[in-house]
Amino acid sequence: MMPQRNQQNQPQPDLPPEKVKGQPQLLRGMRDILPADQPYWDAAVSAIERIATSAGFQKIETPVLEAASLFNRSVGQDTDIVDKEMYTFIDRSGDKLALRPENTASVARAYLEHGMVSWPQPVKLFYVSSFFRHDRPQAGRYREFWQFGFEVLGDVQPVVDALIAYHAASVYREFGIPINVHINSIGDKACRPGYLKLLTDYFKSRKNSLCEDCKKRLLKNPLRILDCKEPDCHTVSLDAPQTVDHLCDACRDHFVHVLEYLGELEVPYTLDSRIVRGLDYYTRTVFEVYEDGGGEGAQSALGGGGRYDDLVEQFGNRQVPAAGFAGGIERLITKMHERQYAPKVSSPDIFIGQLGEPARKKCLKLYDVLRSLNIKVAESFSKDGLKSQLEAANRLSVKFALIIGQKEIMDDTILIRDMESGIQEVVDYKKIVPEIQKRLSKSTVVPTAPAVTPTL
Ligand code: AMP
Repeated sequence: MMPQRNQQNQPQPDLPPEKVKGQPQLLRGMRDILPADQPYWDAAVSAIERIATSAGFQKIETPVLEAASLFNRSVGQDTDIVDKEMYTFIDRSGDKLALRPENTASVARAYLEHGMVSWPQPVKLFYVSSFFRHDRPQAGRYREFWQFGFEVLGDVQPVVDALIAYHAASVYREFGIPINVHINSIGDKACRPGYLKLLTDYFKSRKNSLCEDCKKRLLKNPLRILDCKEPDCHTVSLDAPQTVDHLCDACRDHFVHVLEYLGELEVPYTLDSRIVRGLDYYTRTVFEVYEDGGGEGAQSALGGGGRYDDLVEQFGNRQVPAAGFAGGIERLITKMHERQYAPKVSSPDIFIGQLGEPARKKCLKLYDVLRSLNIKVAESFSKDGLKSQLEAANRLSVKFALIIGQKEIMDDTILIRDMESGIQEVVDYKKIVPEIQKRLSKSTVVPTAPAVTPTL
């Protein structure tokens, strides 16, 4: 008798593993991305790649290790990322290295290093990579985490800022996650010093209400006080001078255009004077993407970005205006789970079952032929009993099982079993390849057109 088909087609949960003393352990804040997680990762990464490449972004991968000075100079020595969270070490050559905590600085380095300045501008790059920050591990916060990012270098126009936010929003929309872009402008070299003076004066007069970190920020990075999560600092910040009221004409004009373009692209946004991003390289537009409708304040940003017009110049004496965005993949996947997104799990098309040594050898040849035709084939060649092999076929949700036993060896035939209906048929072995191709092409689902046609 054939084994019962497992309706759920899910592997049974494993028993909790027994721990042996001295057994190697996962480092705190790190995580393994197990096979069950992979369909979500595959769905996320393929949506990101599709959105990026269809908009003309090219993929870049930079090394995990960089000179620590790259981030000190760009992200900023006084930022939490560099000051408190960056993994640094001296290597065997005596160089001070860092595990990359983010990617914009590395992309800007690569842009200069590979002469991308002479490529047609703007240069549009994207990545999906892992980053490292020695932060306090908690839900949704890891010490190795993944980000996807879009960077556009060599374009000063405000439409670039809007398009970056739009492409970031497209990734979340792809999975039905409604978002809102919290946006602000922090000005540029011309207007920010004046604003920072006003801000510092304001906070100095309320210094006693600030947390210890913000007292230090007052001297080093007063903008950061605006996004401090401490309730007292938050209350003091509510009446602080706002950047948007102190922008120079050029920065105000840029910001107004960004907002207009976001409107045209129908990206929902909220003006938010508390978004400052805190990294030294940002100029003008800064934004963070939040899930729309979630509790304000308590929720974490899904990602953030902005303009960094002075970063490349700081590295290489060339003014290259640029803007970018980075979103956390783990947080995207958490939202996919919350919205019960069901990733497509690809199962093999065919299972090959065999009984007896001559059948095993014949099936190995068939396995090779089917695989060379890009047919997804599963097998349990190391098993002898047909029952356990068919149980495996059942678990894998294959459409057809091909079986060769002693009788089929004698007759030069093969058995095709339709796993859904249970109907079996004997076929001439020589005709099995075209027969299986015919059956598989019939069982392929034709994708349907989108339910809603976008209107202009
Ligand atoms: P940031 O560059 O810090 O603004 O990070 C951009 C996005 O990356 C965040 O909004 C998160 O989605 C994600 N992210 C940053 N740090 C972590 C972390 N330690 N663990 C998981 N995701 C992170």
